[in-house]
Amino acid sequence: MAVHAVSKVAEDLNPFRIAMHQFDTAAEKLKLDAGLREVLRTPRRALSLSLPIKMDSGAVKVFQGFRVQHNNARGPCKGGIRYHPNVSFDEVQALASWMTWKCATVNIPFGGAKGGIICDPHKLSKSELERLTRRYAYEISDFIGPDRDIPAPDVYTDAQVMAWIMDTYSMTRGHSVPGVVTGKPTFLGGSLGRHEATARGCVYVTRCACEVKNIDHKRATAAIQGFGNAGSIAAELLAKIGMTVIAASDSRGGIVNPKGLDIPKLVAHKSKTGSVAGFPGAKAISSNDVLELDCDVLIPAALENQITLTNAHRIKANVIAEAANGPTTPGADAILRDKGVLVIPDILANAGGVTVSYFEWVQDLQELFWDVEEVNRKLEKIMGKAFADVHECAKKFKTDMRTGAYVVAIDRVAKATESRGIWP
Ligand code: GLU
Repeated sequence: MAVHAVSKVAEDLNPFRIAMHQFDTAAEKLKLDAGLREVLRTPRRALSLSLPIKMDSGAVKVFQGFRVQHNNARGPCKGGIRYHPNVSFDEVQALASWMTWKCATVNIPFGGAKGGIICDPHKLSKSELERLTRRYAYEISDFIGPDRDIPAPDVYTDAQVMAWIMDTYSMTRGHSVPGVVTGKPTFLGGSLGRHEATARGCVYVTRCACEVKNIDHKRATAAIQGFGNAGSIAAELLAKIGMTVIAASDSRGGIVNPKGLDIPKLVAHKSKTGSVAGFPGAKAISSNDVLELDCDVLIPAALENQITLTNAHRIKANVIAEAANGPTTPGADAILRDKGVLVIPDILANAGGVTVSYFEWVQDLQELFWDVEEVNRKLEKIMGKAFADVHECAKKFKTDMRTGAYVVAIDRVAKATESRGIWP
């Protein structure tokens, strides 16, 4: 009995194998040449680093870090840096390849990369975090740069971490190089609107998806898993366009109120207490329960492998917008497709972040900065076009939006690779 129960839900949760499966599904549809397929699925290069850090106590600890550059056929590699205890090399490889397909889906001139350090930043002091960041930045400094590979924030990294990386890199070059990272503080060459961009882009394509599914977004309800940069700002923006956000969660727990949560008050509660848990007037639920609530729109905005074979059949939302990277497994995708759920895949749904990173890089290079209206207008245009491209492609190939997005993206990267040719 127990064996049966386990075998029923057993699925491969290795993020890199999942990423390759997603790639292969679309490459098959495109009838991509076998050699080209191999070129595109393999990361171009990967660094694995040991980072010795003097802790405040005087003890020395060695942390492990990675930077994977997946592809640069369409431009410099681009992608965030994650600080998390569960970071692994395969996770970073997966995230790097997702960046390649993400940048191609929204048609910005970047390839894909990702970095990560295995650490719990909440257990480090600010000066330990700075030393760890600077050591990591130094170790990757020969591989990054505005025309090579441009890091950005990801899970548990922020504008301050980017400022330290920019400073460390600039020290190795002897002059300030703002374009080496994006997601910097605005007073250091960061772009207006970058902080909100992932959520803004996500909400924009959610509206497009609601239109496709004939859902009036003003009468719709939403549940959000994860209340970091993407999740909390998505909640604010959804509430602003008239959607009722009924539930939210973070790593410490979740809350629900079917009548709707007061989002500005919830954001204040989180910044005071460190969690959404314990928000007055709402019922406590688990982070997993948030995924299965009766609502129109579900926004997974936390980590990978949240919607799996185990819970996909219990999902009630009609639209899922993946603000997180990799929240849905291939097994869950198949169940959701059969149920008629419209899943806006991560490489489209959360591409607003890297799109405004692109704007930041452009502004840094030309040393001319735009107002927030211009940033948001350009972001909306790119997200709207990408949603339309992906939706049309999914219809053409009679497939779901994820495979549609991969087909659009792989086709663009394949064309670039073929016309450049294989050197030597
Ligand atoms: N970490 C974000 C992502 O996964 C942003 C990457 C960037 O701006 O380069 O898309």
